[in-house]
Amino acid sequence: MQNALPERPRRADEPLPEAREVAFHIWKITVPIPFPLRTVNMYALVGEDGWVLIDAGMGTPDARAALQAGLERANLRIENLRAIVLTHHHPDHVGMSGELQEKSGAKVYMHSIDEAAIQILWAHAMPQRFGRVSKFFLQHGLPQTQLWLSHVEPRAVDDIIRVPPHAAITVVEDGEELELLGERYRVIWTPGHSDGQICLFRPRDGVFLAADHVLPRITPNIGLYSPHDRPNPLEDYLASLIKVADLPATIVLPGHGEPLADLKGRTSEITYHHQEREAELLTMIQQQPQHAYQLAEQLFQGRLKSDEARRMGVAEVIAHLEHMRYNGLLKQERTQDDIILYAIA
Ligand SMILES: [Zn+2]
Ligand SMILES: [Zn+2]
Repeated sequence: MQNALPERPRRADEPLPEAREVAFHIWKITVPIPFPLRTVNMYALVGEDGWVLIDAGMGTPDARAALQAGLERANLRIENLRAIVLTHHHPDHVGMSGELQEKSGAKVYMHSIDEAAIQILWAHAMPQRFGRVSKFFLQHGLPQTQLWLSHVEPRAVDDIIRVPPHAAITVVEDGEELELLGERYRVIWTPGHSDGQICLFRPRDGVFLAADHVLPRITPNIGLYSPHDRPNPLEDYLASLIKVADLPATIVLPGHGEPLADLKGRTSEITYHHQEREAELLTMIQQQPQHAYQLAEQLFQGRLKSDEARRMGVAEVIAHLEHMRYNGLLKQERTQDDIILYAIA
């Protein structure tokens, strides 16, 4: 798999593109992505009569090579792919789903909210939506930014991110039981990281497919990106952590990074991180009312180097500010230029 490796220097603790059996008949196939997280995990659940794929990476040339090598390693063939479960709408999780579905005829499952979100990609309506998002960020003090997609040739984007059409997708809802290769999985809707994210839990042996809800080492990005999304994603997220914390999980299989064992412990660490961050923001606002971008710059101190990072950082700060506003700690004020400032309530 050497030739699948990207040429950038690698951090010591960074996961490699690889394929490995992490639990009995469950393969973790890790492929590169052109984002700071660098890799994303896809999982292959293998049964007697075929296999099921959880998430679908992005279709960059090195990711395709890594997936190909992974499938060979695990001895899996596209023709035997029976179903694809897409945990949420982010491009690094859905990119190759369109072509894999086409080649295999597999059923595709997704939560209704994020299914609606990927149809925007299918309809090539991303630039319009992004225009609205930019206006939203402008009001929070962030100067115009470029979308990662706009640096890439439009035709190349179709290769990298291609999703199945609406008619090929079966939508699922919270609490539903999915039968995959004769095994039962509970669908757990975990809004927060995305409005329509789902995790899967297998009661028989406690396998928990965590998507980007619970990650090792890093806390998942929880951001408010648009006035059309669910308005209080951090509240959603913290509630979704409580929702999964007490599951009798034996192994947690995350969307990025290595599997972990202690689901409850990790959910507590992440909750604590968010409490600390809110305390930090509150201290900054006590000095003077400020907009989200100012606060993000202080909080992330020079780490917001790309447009992508700036948007994510600001979206994360807005999620915290709105969470505190809903809890009665903060209020909004407007400048003459219609910039939103947050002040102590
Ligand atoms: Zn994600
Ligand atoms: Zn992800």
